Amino acid sequence: MILDIDIIRSFYKSLPGRIDEIRKLLGHPLTLTEKILFTHIVNRSGISGLRRKENYADFLPDRIAMQDATAQMALLQFMVTGKEQSSVPASVHCDHLITGKFGADEDLKSALEMNREVYEFLSSVCGKYNIDFWNPGAGIIHQVVLENYAFPGGLMIGTDSHTPTAGGLGMLAPGVGGADAVDVMTGMGWELKLPEIIGVRLKGRLNGWTSAKDIILKLIGMFTVKGGTGSVIEYFGDGAESLSCTGKATICNMGAETGATCSVFGFDASMSEYLVSTARGEVAELAFRNKDSLTGDPEVYADPEKYFDHLYEIDLSSLEPYINGPFTPDRAIPISRMKEEVLKSGCPLKISAGLIGSCTNSSYEDISRASSVIENALSQKLSLKSEFIVIPGSERIRTISEEAGFMEIFRKAGAKLFANACGPCIGQWDRGSIDDMKVNTIIHSFNRNFAKRADGNPDTYAFVASPEIVAALSVAGNLLFNPLTDLLFNSERDIVKLPEPSGRALPQEGLKPTLSGYQQPPADRTNIDIKISPDSERLQLLEPFKDYDELDFQNMPVLIKVKGKCTTDHISMAGIWLKYRGHLENISENYMTGAFNSFNGKINSVLNVLSGNYEPVPKVARTYRNNGLSSVVVGEDNFGEGSSREHAAMEPRFFGVRAIIVKSFARIHETNLKKQGVLTLTFINNSDYYKIREDDWIDINGLEQLSPGRKLKLTLNHSDETVEYIEAGHSYNENQISWFKAGSALNLIRKSK
Ligand code: SF4
Repeated sequence: MILDIDIIRSFYKSLPGRIDEIRKLLGHPLTLTEKILFTHIVNRSGISGLRRKENYADFLPDRIAMQDATAQMALLQFMVTGKEQSSVPASVHCDHLITGKFGADEDLKSALEMNREVYEFLSSVCGKYNIDFWNPGAGIIHQVVLENYAFPGGLMIGTDSHTPTAGGLGMLAPGVGGADAVDVMTGMGWELKLPEIIGVRLKGRLNGWTSAKDIILKLIGMFTVKGGTGSVIEYFGDGAESLSCTGKATICNMGAETGATCSVFGFDASMSEYLVSTARGEVAELAFRNKDSLTGDPEVYADPEKYFDHLYEIDLSSLEPYINGPFTPDRAIPISRMKEEVLKSGCPLKISAGLIGSCTNSSYEDISRASSVIENALSQKLSLKSEFIVIPGSERIRTISEEAGFMEIFRKAGAKLFANACGPCIGQWDRGSIDDMKVNTIIHSFNRNFAKRADGNPDTYAFVASPEIVAALSVAGNLLFNPLTDLLFNSERDIVKLPEPSGRALPQEGLKPTLSGYQQPPADRTNIDIKISPDSERLQLLEPFKDYDELDFQNMPVLIKVKGKCTTDHISMAGIWLKYRGHLENISENYMTGAFNSFNGKINSVLNVLSGNYEPVPKVARTYRNNGLSSVVVGEDNFGEGSSREHAAMEPRFFGVRAIIVKSFARIHETNLKKQGVLTLTFINNSDYYKIREDDWIDINGLEQLSPGRKLKLTLNHSDETVEYIEAGHSYNENQISWFKAGSALNLIRKSK
């Protein structure tokens, strides 16, 4: 066990006492979310004055997890603080930079070659600052965290939006930007606006073709991609207890798709079994002894309307499999309605590829159930009609799946096995030249299906489903196939029906511990040298952003007014750009290159008001900056939804974008922008979005008096010499205003050193 058991022992020892104190302070029974949050709050005595969705508070997380794409910038920022080591246990996982093409061995070899410089940097930085390092091939961050570090009742932050996966093991685990991780690594509290708590009661039991994935696919359809914003989703009920720990983790993982801060389940027998199976028997025992502290109080679950801000219920017994898509995970389609919906959508019915695995769905249970579908198909003389790709979440899962014979079944059917890494889930899928790519349909068990997300091709229609449904549809090769009702012709022209999948939550002998790829920081770290070549294209030492000479934001052109959805993929694309995550100047060349300009409906084509020409966004941004001009970005709803990547916030700051004005922000992106010193504003009247013209010059007045809740006035100076005024709101608290005034949160840390 690499988890520090002394820390865990002392955590559980004091837990019941701390919870009693909180119950007394609040004077009512507690949800699990309140128990976890308030046992980690910096100022416990002040909790009775805190209002959900109104007040900010500082928390002290137990751990930090970072993946290689976001860790580079987080650690480059940490180096700027001058601290000697991370104040809390932390880990870095090399999973995002491995491209899937030929298969695990070959792909891993070329990743090691291509990314050597980055891996060496991360390995040495981790050694120097006392951080656990997981080499490429060891697994995907959330799976490795679940197998090794997560524990019930804990609070963890991670520089990846699917960090909430650890909620499957009873941990509150929000995804954050790298700057938040830097705060915590330097010993500061982690700031969060107190979330609302959404209760979801699960009743009944899953059966047949349905799986935990279908619960969250249905819920995302109910909530939409922003319905969970500013909330923690807490699951309870007999249905919750009937799910495996890894099934719960899948649900918590994809809770991020509703915009929720994180999701959590209370401790139960499935978590205990998982802890024992992953060689953490003592943690299971300690958690069992404290089980009342690790779930909501009985009064809360008996009368949930009274204690949750919102309440939903899902009956697992009547749930059917879902297929969500295309292009957004909240377009939830029950499989019985798939035929009519797909025929309306006009996407190709033939499935070019089915992919299973990723951090979302690569548990032993997922792999065993998907392999049972393929095994049943083979025994009925059916074969795969689509390309089929398996991506194990960790080396531990890969090894046990190999030993159990699941991988052999996949290989026998002609499937390709990719490395234990993100691969196609984050655009790291080499399907050949983009020019050769055609309009096509894929189905996968990952969590996101935004345009271009898997393969960079805007014409790939991606659908999300459970691994067993992906396997069945890959056998049929057709999006219209419903394995619950439909029949197939086999190679002998007999009509056959696929039996329901079968599998086990965990192998009888347990998930054998393997620390393959794990690197412990050395005891003596004094002589570790961190080298970054000045000629490097991948890594660049950070220069702190300058603070604002004066808070006088005048005469700013509109860099882009974005139309419609603007995810972090639109703002700072992944795929080929992942390689520049440690080099701010180079990665900034992708700024807003995926967003639609509302004035001409085009991507990466905006008016340069100095030349009068339409040019790529980064070129115009650079021109403005080089001419001493600041600029403004305008957007619509849920701006910056998607990932936690802070490059999407550092790039505008690098280019001199001073303010971003939108109808609403996604939580992590808004915080990231605030941390980097970009002013985040929201329209008081959403219709004012339409008043902003392409060649406007904008002034923002009253910034010297910026204070919580105080509105700001914007002047729109139109080119026809008319002037309009609009109002903007903001969500800054006093602390965040001090980040803004210092030029960035990091500047403030450096000043207080
Ligand atoms: S969601 Fe995809 S890209 Fe993100 S950690 Fe999981 S596998 Fe990797």
